[in-house]
Formats: sequence, C-alpha cells, structure tokens
Amino acid sequence: MNYFLPSFFLVGLLLAVFYDTWLIAIGVGGLALLAYYSVKLLLPGSDTYQYIVSLVFGIFMAQFIYQMHGLFEMHFIAFIGSAILITYQNWKLQIPLALLVIVHHATFGYLQYIGYDKVYFTQLDYMTLQTFIIHGTLATVVFFIGGLWAWQLRRLNERQIELTYEMGRFQEEQLQQKALLRSNEELKKTNKELDGFVYSVSHDLRAPLSSMLGIVGLCEMGSPDAFMQKNITLLKSSIKKLDGFIIDILDYSRNSRLEIKRQEIHFNDLLTDISNNLKFMGADDQRKVDIRVAVRNGVAFHSDQSRLSIIFNNLVSNSIRYQNPEVPDPFVEICVEVSETAADILVRDNGIGIDKENHEKVFNMFYRVSNKSIGSGLGLYIVKEAVEKLNGAIKLKSQPGKGTEFSIRLPNLAN
Ligand code: ADP
Repeated sequence: MNYFLPSFFLVGLLLAVFYDTWLIAIGVGGLALLAYYSVKLLLPGSDTYQYIVSLVFGIFMAQFIYQMHGLFEMHFIAFIGSAILITYQNWKLQIPLALLVIVHHATFGYLQYIGYDKVYFTQLDYMTLQTFIIHGTLATVVFFIGGLWAWQLRRLNERQIELTYEMGRFQEEQLQQKALLRSNEELKKTNKELDGFVYSVSHDLRAPLSSMLGIVGLCEMGSPDAFMQKNITLLKSSIKKLDGFIIDILDYSRNSRLEIKRQEIHFNDLLTDISNNLKFMGADDQRKVDIRVAVRNGVAFHSDQSRLSIIFNNLVSNSIRYQNPEVPDPFVEICVEVSETAADILVRDNGIGIDKENHEKVFNMFYRVSNKSIGSGLGLYIVKEAVEKLNGAIKLKSQPGKGTEFSIRLPNLAN
C-alpha cells in the first residue's frame, strides 16, 4: 500500500497535466492519502485500516474517472484496487469498494440526468437505468470474484499453516520417540549389564559360602563343647540364610534376563524333585511339614521349567517356613489341573496366614510382614514376576491362624 497509494496520487497529478484537473488531483488525492496515512499511524494492523484502504482505492478510481472525463478505460483501476485488496485475504474488504462505486455512479448519474453539466461522469449523454444496472452488476461480479479469490487464498493459507504445524508436531513427536527409543535401548543395555553383574557376583558368592558350610560342619562334628555347638548352629543358620538370599537374587536375575524356554512340563517329576529338596528344610525346632501333591494332567502342558521351579520352590518353602506351631498336622498341598489352554495351580497350607492388609504388599520387593519373617522379602516378588513373564496371573487368599492359598493360572504354551 505504501507504494501503490502514493503512485496513485502521482498518476492523479500526471492526469492533471493533460486534463487540467489540479484541484481534484491534489485535493481529492491528497485527502485520500491523508486518510490512508492517518489510519495507518493511528490504527496500524487493524480491520479499520484495511477498510479505509478499500475506500481509498475506490476514491482514487472515482478521481481518475472524473479527471479523464469518464473514460471507460479507467475502470481497470477498479480491478487493480480489488486485486491489491486480496493481499489481505479478507473478502469483506470488497464491500466498501463496491458501495463507493455504487454510490459514486448513482450520484453522478443522477446529477447528469437532472442536467447538471459540471461533472464528467460518462461520455454518454446520460446513463439510463438499464445501463446503470448492467454497469453495477458487472462491477459487483468483479468485486465478488475478487472477494472469492481473497476467501480462497485465506482458506489455502490457513490449511497450509495447519499442515506446517502438523508436520512440525509430527517431526517433534518422531524426534521424541527416537529419543525415547534410544534411552530405552540404553536403559535395557544398562539393565542387562547390571543383571549380568548381579548374576555373576551372586554366583561366585555361593562357592565360598558352601565351603564355609562344609568347614562349619566339620567343626560341629569335632567339637563336643555345648557352647561351641550352639554357636556353630547359629553360624550354620546364618550361612544358610545368606545362601537363601543369594539364591533369591539369582532367581530374580535369571527371570528378568532369560527368554522364555518352552518345553513340556512333567508336573509329577518336577514336584517330586521339589518336595524331596524341601523335605528337610525348616528350622531345627520346626516340625516336618507334610507335602501333598495332586496332579491332574490329561493333556501335555508346555511352559518354562526353570520359572515353574522358581515359583513352586518359593511358595512351598514359604509354606514350610510360615507353618503354624499351634496346628497338629502342618501340611502344604499342591494341586495342579492341566487343560488344553492353561494350568491351574493351587498351593495351600495351614500355616500362620497373612492378614488382609498385607495381601497386596507381600508381592512387593523386599516386603516382609514382620521382622520375625525369616527370608529376604524377595520370594513372592520373584514369584509374581515369573508368573507375569509366563503371561499368567496369581491370586492370594489367606486368613491369619487358618492358612494361605495361592492360586495361579498359567497359559499352556503348547501352540
Ligand atoms: P520372605 O523371603 O520374607 O519369605 P516372601 O516375599 O516370600 O519373602 O514373602 C513375603 C512375606 O509374606 C513373608 O515375610 C511372610 O511374612 C509372608 N508369607 C509369605 N508366604 C507365606 C505363607 N505361606 N504363610 C504365611 N505368611 C507368608
């Protein structure tokens, strides 16, 4: 606008040289420019500014037509004004321009019609109503097309901006995802390294512990002293406890590190091994717990043997450790029922039980119900992790003084 409107003013001066219309060129052109600059200064970037620009275009058009004594060729200024307004992409800006054209034509046409000869409106003798209507319709069509163009441009622009934003967002998301993937990979690597480290350290720790146990056993045999015997028993139980802790850590590490190894599970063999191993477990002052096994397996069951072994070992050893001294016949019952799709496992005991508020917490890492608990607090956490790794689910029912029941459902990975 800063170039167009002053050049329009100059065109007006140029026309004045040919047509001797200085007063109009300077007066009307000057006022139009003044209106333009005032609103530009006072209301920069506002809608009013744009509407005034539209009017100023109309005024210049009228001015030129007047200066050129109504030459039709000057109508192209209307096109130029309308086209330039499209820059603002606002179809409404065509309205002031169109209104001014209509008012201008009507006023001047009327003045000419009533015989006022001081205006140069058209080179026709006078403008009939029909000519006026055709003229007005053509002008409206021109401005309508200009407005439509402005509207389309705006839509396209808005869509373009939306697309740019969408692309930006998409790129940002992709970058975030990549960063997340990278940090996930790094985390996995660190975890794997840490697991490997824990595994090898724990593994290496077990060897000196078992030789310690051997030596302590020798001392036990060679020392008749009651005081020594008592201390050696304490030492043995501490070594066993430490060994149990290390086994838990190893189990945890194995479960998180190793992929699932699918194989056919023979529950009877597996449970016989486990009960043979755990038969002599428990503190010396504890009674032997009767381990009862019932397996119903009409179909082959496939799963990960080492994880199943971790699960049973932990649950059964807990039942033995947390037996109830008040009941005469401590037992742990293991029932397995296999179907085509799953194995339903129940490990039930008549031990001390767990109160309701601890039912969820016992599965937390290092959680022990009381300080009197014997283990590391890792056992049930590992059981839950292993069950989840096998895509199974575990539930606990227990009542203090009555006993505890863990029910597990594991999918049959036969297919
Ligand atoms: P811990 O190594 O201490 O046994 P677990 O994670 O195996 O750790 O068990 C968490 C706690 O849940 C134990 O400290 C114990 O108090 C309780 N608990 C687990 N199994 C039984 C059970 N069969 N009967 C009674 N209490 C149990």
